[in-house]
Amino acid sequence: MHVSFTIYKNGRTYVLGRTSRFGSEHKRVNMTQRRGNMRTKVSSKYLIAEVEGEPVVIADGELVFEGDEIIFVGKHFADHVDRNLDATDSIVSPGFISTHSHLGGSPFDRSLREDVYDYWKTGLYDILMPIRAATDEAATRAATRATILELLKGGVTSVVDLTADHALTAEYAEESGIRAFIGQYVRTWVWDTDGVNVTYKHIGEAEQSRLVDEAVQLLQRYDGRDSNIQAILAPAQIDTCSVELLEEVSRLSQKHNAPVAIHAAQSAAEFNAILKSYSATPIEFLDRVGLLNQRTLIGHGLFIPGHSWLQYPYGDDLALLSESGATVAHCPTVFERHGQALENFYAYRKRGVRMSLGLDSAPHSMQAEMRIAGAIGRVLGRSEIGVTGLDIFEAATSAGARALQRQDIGKLAVGSKADFIQFKTDTVSMAPLRDPIKNIVHHSNPSDIRAVYVGGECRIQDGTSVYADEKEIATNLQTAAEGVWEKFPNGHSGSKTLDEISPRSLRTL
Ligand SMILES: [Zn+2]
Repeated sequence: MHVSFTIYKNGRTYVLGRTSRFGSEHKRVNMTQRRGNMRTKVSSKYLIAEVEGEPVVIADGELVFEGDEIIFVGKHFADHVDRNLDATDSIVSPGFISTHSHLGGSPFDRSLREDVYDYWKTGLYDILMPIRAATDEAATRAATRATILELLKGGVTSVVDLTADHALTAEYAEESGIRAFIGQYVRTWVWDTDGVNVTYKHIGEAEQSRLVDEAVQLLQRYDGRDSNIQAILAPAQIDTCSVELLEEVSRLSQKHNAPVAIHAAQSAAEFNAILKSYSATPIEFLDRVGLLNQRTLIGHGLFIPGHSWLQYPYGDDLALLSESGATVAHCPTVFERHGQALENFYAYRKRGVRMSLGLDSAPHSMQAEMRIAGAIGRVLGRSEIGVTGLDIFEAATSAGARALQRQDIGKLAVGSKADFIQFKTDTVSMAPLRDPIKNIVHHSNPSDIRAVYVGGECRIQDGTSVYADEKEIATNLQTAAEGVWEKFPNGHSGSKTLDEISPRSLRTL
């Protein structure tokens, strides 16, 4: 039995209906009617959706969106539509959310940051700082544009960008349509290093105040209600912000109900610096300054008491994390590259810590990140069922939405934004198919993605951009990277060249 009808009343749309299979799968929709917006129906082989608050897979499911908003998920939509998208050979999945990215810089890691020795096993001090110093505006533009395209091609429809140049991110978020959460970095100090010792240089009170003012202006400008851009707060790193600055960020976050993304517990050097200065772990220190709560995204949360690289057994950071509702932005690739890991996904999850996934460094592939997160989590957790495909899928979708205080992304449900991925099923990497979640997490490749939609707009079709020329973007990135490599200042206070820090794999004739 199926009933469904739409009424228009007082300028608002109400879609009512029910089916026998899910009880009341056609939710009551109460939304402003956006006249002129097309109504589109997507017919799938499998639809990964949320019905009555429960994540489900709907075989032969239909998704209907009007403008940028989903008005129906279920078995059959009987009302009229303006357009049909035939995805009956596809899985339709929620778009991925990267909760920790650096759009304007991280592509320059590629071909450089791999197979590199770094004293602190992070690449932060020997590689990233010189790259940043060598990156000008043209290079940042090329990198931002390229990273956004790479993210979209892999099904990422929302990204948290931590960058020094949010204006460029906003510009290319407009061009591409990706949903961007942008923050103005605020800080008190910048790092200095000789490769072993990390020291801190004050940026000056006036500069710190200017950064805070700009962060506040950004919050006022982008509240995320009517655009694909939303401002967040971004105190750069826990060890580069003073107590007073972090407390100010906490006050602003409460006042504006704004998410906060911060690097914390990300290196042994940082853990030691915080312990030495404040007699607290980075997580305890976050709590002390009022920044450990459900609005906080912690990149990367590795270094907690008990981590095998620390000689520090005191305290229970997992309990603090779990009770606070804060979310870890877990970015396993950039750390495994330096031979280290969060210890471990299974243990964190078991203690109730909210885990999301971020694509900190190239490659910006959520499919690769999901697989690495699952593999390391299972191996270090010594459990084949401790970290499941579903745990990882949720970390890549709904967990980020919750951390960002957004009820309307990270899932395909009535009232949500139409941010979705169309995965092919007729490829050798996706067939045979019994469980869409398992196939996406454990088996899918970028080439299995047929299309990606953000806010109901197609941004990727048949594997490439519909809004810009990929070859041009890649060529610009190559030119920009060659400029960065040329200007790369010698690391270790000038004692090593780029080729000594990052030797090429083979002698190039
Ligand atoms: Zn980062």
